[in-house]
Amino acid sequence: MALIDCPECHHQVSDSAASCPNCGHPVAEPAVKTVVRPNKPEGTKSVLKFILIAIVALILFKACSDSGTGTKADTTAPVDVQYEIAKVIASNKMSGCGEFTWTANPGQSSEYTVKCSSDGTNWTTYTVWTKVDKIVPGVTP
Ligand SMILES: [Zn+2]
Repeated sequence: MALIDCPECHHQVSDSAASCPNCGHPVAEPAVKTVVRPNKPEGTKSVLKFILIAIVALILFKACSDSGTGTKADTTAPVDVQYEIAKVIASNKMSGCGEFTWTANPGQSSEYTVKCSSDGTNWTTYTVWTKVDKIVPGVTP
């Protein structure tokens, strides 16, 4: 490490310094230093860009998987129907409905044919509308 004269202001500058601390004139290996310096911010920029793209991709992926979860919820709908029918049975104080099976009536939304039993042997058929909380004995035509 030696001291050299700054070519601009003749201030004593360490030869390991990139530029003169007095006037800022580049003294040691200015060509290499100026090449290295602009490269660094560019590298940081491309890393930031990559992170940004990754975040956007993650958000899009999450949005997609959320709608996928929605589809999954549709496939678990029978469990909800079971619960909805049980609620209607309870609120209508149906007796002899210790257990029940149900089938969705085709073409009818939230209309189900429900077979109730208290002993697992004798089954009574009802038509249940979960949306309007209604039970009618028998099967509607
Ligand atoms: Zn200088």
